[in-house]
This record gives sequence, C-alpha cells and structure tokens, in this order.
Amino acid sequence: SGRSAMPLLADAIVECGRRTLANAISLANDLGSKEGGRWNGAEVIYGDTDSLFIKLPGRSVKDAFEFGREFCTSVTASNPPPVELKLEKVYHATLLQTKKKYCGMKYDSPKQKKPVFEAKGIETVRRDQCLLTQKILRNALITIFRRGVRATKDYLCRQWKMIHEGSLPVSDFVLTGRVRSCYRGGKIGPVQAALARRLAESDPGRVVRHKERLPYVIVATPGITFKLRDCVLTPMEILTRWDSYTIHSAYYATKHVNAALQRCLGLSPYNIDVNTWYESCPKPRKRIHHWPITRCGGNAMISTYFGSDICTLCGVKCKAKGSSKVVVCDTCHKDHAQVSTVALRRLNTAQYDAAEAARICGLCNGCPENGRTFAQEKIFKSSVTNAANLTKRGTRKGAGIVIPIANCVCVDCPITYERHRARESELEALALCKELNLL
Ligand code: SF4
Ligand SMILES: [Zn+2]
Ligand SMILES: [Zn+2]
Repeated sequence: SGRSAMPLLADAIVECGRRTLANAISLANDLGSKEGGRWNGAEVIYGDTDSLFIKLPGRSVKDAFEFGREFCTSVTASNPPPVELKLEKVYHATLLQTKKKYCGMKYDSPKQKKPVFEAKGIETVRRDQCLLTQKILRNALITIFRRGVRATKDYLCRQWKMIHEGSLPVSDFVLTGRVRSCYRGGKIGPVQAALARRLAESDPGRVVRHKERLPYVIVATPGITFKLRDCVLTPMEILTRWDSYTIHSAYYATKHVNAALQRCLGLSPYNIDVNTWYESCPKPRKRIHHWPITRCGGNAMISTYFGSDICTLCGVKCKAKGSSKVVVCDTCHKDHAQVSTVALRRLNTAQYDAAEAARICGLCNGCPENGRTFAQEKIFKSSVTNAANLTKRGTRKGAGIVIPIANCVCVDCPITYERHRARESELEALALCKELNLL
C-alpha cells in the first residue's frame, strides 16, 4: 500500500495478486500430493509476488518443461485475462539461498543441449566482492552442479593453494568500499575509511568525497601481526612496494572466499562445511617477491629477510644461500646446458610478455612504451660508496624503483597488472640467469 493516492485500490491490487499466487501455489502442491499422479512429489519451494519455484524431484529436464507447460496452461485458464503464468526457465540443479538470491544450471527450452550457469543476487555477480571470490564461487558452483562434491573439493584445494602461494594477480584481490566524509558518533568506520584518512594526511590536496568508492587491498607482512585497519593499501601502493608486502592470503581465503562459499555450499542438499575442507588442505609457503627494493622510510623489507630454499627450477627443497632469492639445487646444477636453456627461455618469455603489454599501453596512451618503461630500477647516487652503505642484509641502500612506476598507473586496467607480472617474471628470470652465471 505505502503512500498511494488511493490506498484502498492499492490494497485491493496487492490482495488480488496475493490470492492469484496462493491459488497457483496450492494448485501445484495439489498436483504434487496426488498419490500415483503424474506429478507426484512436485512441491513449491518459493513463491513471491509474481513468481514461484517448483521442485520436481527425480524428473528430467524434458519432464520439467512438460510440467511447466501444463501447469501454466491451467493457471492461466483459472484466472481472468490478462493474467497469464509464463514458464521462464528450468534449472537442473539449483541452490536457493534466500529470496532473490539463487543460482542454477539454466535451460531456456527443452531443446537446449547444454545448460548455462545463472546466478541472481549472490556473490558471483555482486560488485562489492573481489574478482577472486566471484571467480572461485562461480566455478565451484558450476563444478558442484556438473561434477559433484568430490570434484568441487579438488577444485577448491587447488584454488586455496594458489591463493597461499601468491601466484594470482593483484587485480584478483582488489576490494572496493564506500567511504563517508564523516562517521556518526566519532566512529572510526570500516577499513577503507582508515585508508582514506591516511591518503588525506599524506596528501592534503586529496579530499575524500562523500560516498566515494575506494579500491583497496589487504596486505600482510609475514611474521608481524597488525590490526586489519593498518593493513590497507591502495592497489598502486602494493604494486609499487611489492617487495615489502604480500597479499593477506588467509584473510582473503577465510573472510571472503570461504564465507561466500559457505553461504551457498552449506545449503542442503550439500551441507558442506567449507572451513573443514579448507583446514584439511595443504597450504604452501608464499613465493618470494622479485622486485627492486623500494625506498619507503625505515620499512622492513620482507624479501630481504629470507633467502629462498626452494629450487627455482624443479621446486625441490634445498639449502638456502644466505638471503639469495634464487637457489638452484645440486641435481639441477649438474645439467648445466639444460638448465641454462630453461633459464634463458624464461627470461625471453618474460621480456616478450613485457614488450607485448607495453605495446598495448603505447597504442593506448601515445607514449613511447617498451618493456623497460615499467617499474624501472634506479640506483641512487650516494656520496659515500663504502661498506657502510650496505645494510647487514646485503642490500644496497640506494637501490629502488622509479616512481611513479609507469606513464599510466591506471589500476582498473588489466594491462597494469599484466605489466607488473611480466616485470616480476623478468626480474626473477634475471636472478636465475645470474645464479647460473649466464649474465
Ligand atoms: S595501463 Fe591500460 S589504460 Fe594505462 S596506458 Fe596501458 S593499456 Fe592504457
Ligand atoms: Zn612509497
Ligand atoms: Zn632443482
């Protein structure tokens, strides 16, 4: 009814609609409860305003369309025109989360060979979720509908492994949140509000507009526990300071991916406890970043803390060489010709990828771009070039990258992340080649 000019009429319309729907529901349920009847077992699982979902246990897609046709004809016939019930679609396998939140494998017609995955209102389509959650949830649902629970668990274990390894692009982890210009009762607000305050402090020219959407990532520094609000960076900050931070994988896995999965896979008939699966999966150690050391205050650079103890070529655990990022195991070292080929091929591929991405940027922004115009290394000239200039961990104090890291630092563009990835692969391949004395 609300604020209608003629409340009585509005009420009448609503009531009339409600009765039409109730009649349709009871008709479907009658069909379903008829012992020995053709549609025995049919049951309305959800009905609202002008639509209803009917469950047909054990029936084929063809049967479902037939039921739909029969049912629509009788509902339409039992109502005065122009009331008409239309069969919209058949889901073969579906999950109904709450009203207006559901998904399933959709058939539009009985002749359709392959169903299409469709989701309404759940995280696969919600804009406030990171790409990672959207992708994993979507694929997990498709897998469970098509191939069952076992295959879904295998799929999820592979995804969790990749999240923890750090082998996914930064763009998968970008969250967006709205910020307000002020919070009621002096509250500090959500994590993105902390980011907005920090940005405004460091750059007085930057004003936070009310209800602005701010992209951010949650990062971690291994070995150190921070409050969540101190782990918020802009996507560009993490790309620039790739040596000092890693994506907070546990946070993304549990608070975003698993939470969204649980809301779907926890429903019947699956009733899966996603967290138990997650706990039982092996979680690999983070890979080491290959990135020039950025000069940011007295920040701890994690990449310089640990040397790698995983052979870059075969992945076998071996002895770390001090804080060296690249190690090659004895077995791999023996076949010098073979490993040299691999190393040079890696370098080649990385440089080719970097050049390709740069070419796209060049076409887009009109600047002369090539593989070298992203995150260029810079050695700061220092007047005292002596041992004191080397820190204990063997890194040169004066090394860093040119900032801003590229002519265009658009964080909404996938090319930015592609260039970042290619640049890191190049640095890694370069380090490998040096380790093998190829350069
Ligand atoms: S990063 Fe994207 S938007 Fe920026 S220049 Fe390259 S292609 Fe264009
Ligand atoms: Zn900085
Ligand atoms: Zn090896």
